[in-house]
Amino acid sequence: MANKYDAIVIGAGPGGMTAALYAARANLNVLVLDRGPYGGQMNNTDAIDNYPGFTEIKGPELSQKMYDTLMKFKPDYEYGNVQSVELDGDEKVVKTDDDKEYRAPILIIATGSDHRHLNVPGEEEYSGRGVSYCAVCDAAFFKDEDVVVIGGGDSAIEEGIYLAQLAKSVTVVHRRDQLRAQPTLQKRAFANKKMKFVWNAQTEEILGDGNKVTGIKYRDKETGAEKELKAAGVFIYVGVLPQTAPFKDLGILNEQGWIPTNEHMETKVPGVFALGDVREKDLRQIANAVGEGSVAGQAAYNYYQDLKD
Ligand code: NAP
Repeated sequence: MANKYDAIVIGAGPGGMTAALYAARANLNVLVLDRGPYGGQMNNTDAIDNYPGFTEIKGPELSQKMYDTLMKFKPDYEYGNVQSVELDGDEKVVKTDDDKEYRAPILIIATGSDHRHLNVPGEEEYSGRGVSYCAVCDAAFFKDEDVVVIGGGDSAIEEGIYLAQLAKSVTVVHRRDQLRAQPTLQKRAFANKKMKFVWNAQTEEILGDGNKVTGIKYRDKETGAEKELKAAGVFIYVGVLPQTAPFKDLGILNEQGWIPTNEHMETKVPGVFALGDVREKDLRQIANAVGEGSVAGQAAYNYYQDLKD
């Protein structure tokens, strides 16, 4: 027997929690499903200094505050690893990998994004044995060691700065001669004495001794020379991929797998909304995920009213 709701929110990051808050506060019967702890990627962020209202706050603390705010409005909150969504008339049928089924006329997708892999030899082999995608989770293993960060975006630089608190040195290896990260992060990184930069470097292999990482091999794009860099840890931040596999049959994804929406967070399918990092957009921030969550929650309420009329 399927569990019936007015709205199902998949993903309990900042955007999903806000959408659920707005929908539940408008008196919809809401279910929130997530396969991990609430907070999403925010949970793996050390210091957040660009979310208004807090001069600086730890990711897990902000996650807890958002969860506590949401739970004031009493949605159902369940663990659920969503495998597929089907349409049955106006209803959206959500199936999880533990054979549960949930139905609602409204589906709000807030599943976010996941780390892109470099796809070079050694990456998979040494994952968890020196290769990491989460500095906050793994930095402690590299106290007083030399580590490498691959990438030049906000994540690479922010996490590099975090790693520099513990590691002996942090070398940022970037494929161009200019960082993509926000100027404030760049300024902090360039001023950090523990941080070094290798420019125009295409990482070709993660090196190891069979047991753990020992460094990387990269190609200097200016000279074509192959070079090696010793490191005990390699942190990879080369972008993000949408977490949209369960929604592929709905016909709402673009060619890269992101979900385009209009300004009301509506997808191509009536009653299906998407917000936050999973949307097709340029800027992925907690602040705009929260903003989009409020829009989606309110739009879901309006959709519900129209259905009833
Ligand atoms: P990103 O902005 O897409 O940056 C990815 C970086 O990896 C770029 O520097 C890119 O190089 C490099 N790269 C991509 N593919 C590569 C490859 N195959 N080999 C080597 N390098 C490669 O991803 P992100 O840093 O994970 O950030 C994702 C989103 O979250 C962004 O919107 C970002 O602003 C946001 N974010 C914000 C904050 C914050 O506000 N504090 C913190 C973290 C993330 P190129 O520069 O040459 O393209």
